Order: sequence, then C-alpha cells, then structure tokens
Amino acid sequence: MSRKVDLRSDTVTQPTPEMFEAMARAPLGDDVLGDDPTVHELESEAAARTGHEAAVFVPSGSMGNQIALAVHCRPGDSILFEEEAHVMFYEAGAPAVIAQAITRQVPSSEGIMDVAEIEKRILKRSLHTPGTAVLAVENTHNRKGGAVTPVERMREFRTLCDQYGLKFHLDGARVFNAATALGVDVRELTSQVDSVSFCLSKGLGSPVGSVLCGSSELIEAARFWRKRLGGGMRQAGLLAACGLVSLRKMVPRLAEDHRRAAELAQAVESVDGLAMAYPCPTNILIIETEAPATKWVETLQERGILCMAFGPNRLRMVVHHQVDDAGIARTIEALRAGLGSPAS
Ligand SMILES: *Cc1c(COP(=O)(O)O)cnc(C)c1O
Repeated sequence: MSRKVDLRSDTVTQPTPEMFEAMARAPLGDDVLGDDPTVHELESEAAARTGHEAAVFVPSGSMGNQIALAVHCRPGDSILFEEEAHVMFYEAGAPAVIAQAITRQVPSSEGIMDVAEIEKRILKRSLHTPGTAVLAVENTHNRKGGAVTPVERMREFRTLCDQYGLKFHLDGARVFNAATALGVDVRELTSQVDSVSFCLSKGLGSPVGSVLCGSSELIEAARFWRKRLGGGMRQAGLLAACGLVSLRKMVPRLAEDHRRAAELAQAVESVDGLAMAYPCPTNILIIETEAPATKWVETLQERGILCMAFGPNRLRMVVHHQVDDAGIARTIEALRAGLGSPAS
C-alpha cells in the first residue's frame, strides 16, 4: 500500500530536510526578552518582502488577524468582512472577544467583494451607530476556492478606506498564492494595506507560524497584544529558521501546486456526481457532491486519499508541496472509480 495522499489542508506538510538543517544551525535567543537573532531576521525579511516598516512573528494566522483587528478598533467599532471570511468562520468568535467589535458581512459571489457592496455597509460613527473602523479582505479566499482578489480591486479598496477613514487589513494567510496566480510581486497586494498577516505554515510549508506586518507603530502595539494573548515565544528562532526557508525557497514553487490543483479541478469536472463549486485559480478545490460529502470522504480514505467534508455536499481538497504528480494521478483515479455500488 503506497503512502497516503493528504489533501485535507496545506497545513499538513512535514518540515523539509532544509528546514531541519536550518533549525539545527539557527542562532537562538529569548524572543520575549527581544534577543533572538533568527526571529529578528525573519521579521525584517517579512517586512521588506511585504513593503512594510516592521513585522512581528506570531504563533498562528488567527492570532495575526485578531491582533491587527484589536489594534485597529476601539470596543464597539464595526468591522467589515466578506460573508465567508476565515475571521468570521474559523477564529472562534474572536472579534467579539478580543477587539470587541461588531462585525458586518459583505456578500460576494466568488469571494471577491464589490466596492459598492462594501460602501453600502460602512457606518459613520454617530450618537446611534458604531463607526466602521476596518475593512478586512481575505486574499486568497479559503471557503471560496482560493479566489484571488486582483491588484486593481485592492487599489479600489484602498481608495475607499482612505475616503471613509477605515483601516485596511489583509488576511493574507495565502497571499503568496495570490501573488503567484496574478504573476505579480506580493508587494503589489500587501503594500496597499495597513496590516497584513500571512501564514508560513500553509503552502509555504513551515511547521508553525505567521507574520503580521505593518507600520512600526502598529507592530509595537501588536507586540503588546501578542504578549497579552500568551503568544510570546522564547527560543522561537527554531521556528523562524523554518520561516526563512519558507520565504526563500517555498514561495517560488507555489506555481507548481497551482498547476496540479488545476489538473485535479479539470478531472473533477469529468466525474459523475461531482462539480467544481468555484473556479480553482490557486491550490484549493471546493467540490460540490451529489451524494453526501462524508460518503466521498470515507470512500476516498479507503483508497488512501484524505480530504475534508466542507458542508453536507461539499468537499475541500488542498494541494501542497508534499503532493506530487503521482499523488494527483492517484486522486484522479480514485475519483473516477466513483462511490461504487452496493452490489459490486
Ligand atoms: C489558515 C488561515 C488563517 C489562520 O489560521 P491559523 O490556523 O490560525 O494559522 C487565516 N485566514 C485564512 C484564510 C486561513 O486559511
């Protein structure tokens, strides 16, 4: 029996040999005391890459997002998100608890918001209304098939935020995938926002960690929040060393994941009882299933293919660097074999 093809998420990757070597070599300090040189190196490289003054290494993307929102908001302010944003769906209600903000959802058909739909929902602070403090954009968009918001739309959002005095936060968990799909330097997307959080632990293959980038002032406030939330890490250079490998070595190969995901998406369309729910511009496939999604998950698992149910009739498959062409071929074969019949 050959190895499992694990398409549950791009978070499931094991550290690469190069990461283990980098960990063994990394000079370490105590980052809560501020003297871990490898963390400093990662933070300054991340800031430079995203076009910001400063950056802070955080344990997770959720913490990066929530710290940014807490810094941008006063309790009772309102935040605008796309209706299926990760910050709304998968961060345990944190905006209500940490930033203590009201949230308002913006509909979108395929994960890319319209300026007009956002503008309609902006509230001006008054005696009666909680002022809108932040627009948060997820690029790429997880629940909508890794959808990519183009550079021009990000510029329009920036203009809107300036017009209404909003802070612009980018949940850039997979922003390097977005930049790869668009064929632009990531800075085109990230330098337009007031804060961006990106994950080292998704397609970039690190075991743990995200980086929040912004102005020096924002990052100083973010360090305070990180400590408050229990996110201060000591010899964090071990993890930062992996993060540096991610930035230097893993970014350039994301296109390979996108190519494989597109091949898989094309094959899905030819399987009876399956259809793509969204286009697949990056590494995430959201698949509509005629039969219950759990039936597909179980059947595929028996064939060594792991994926997730993403609703009663939806599957999610995510391609990453530990899924190769053979893995994609096996997945396609397993899908084509269908659910089988009780008689067979
Ligand atoms: C994974 C993810 C995050 C952060 O998740 P953590 O598991 O907390 O690191 C944030 N936003 C999006 C869109 C994500 O996919």
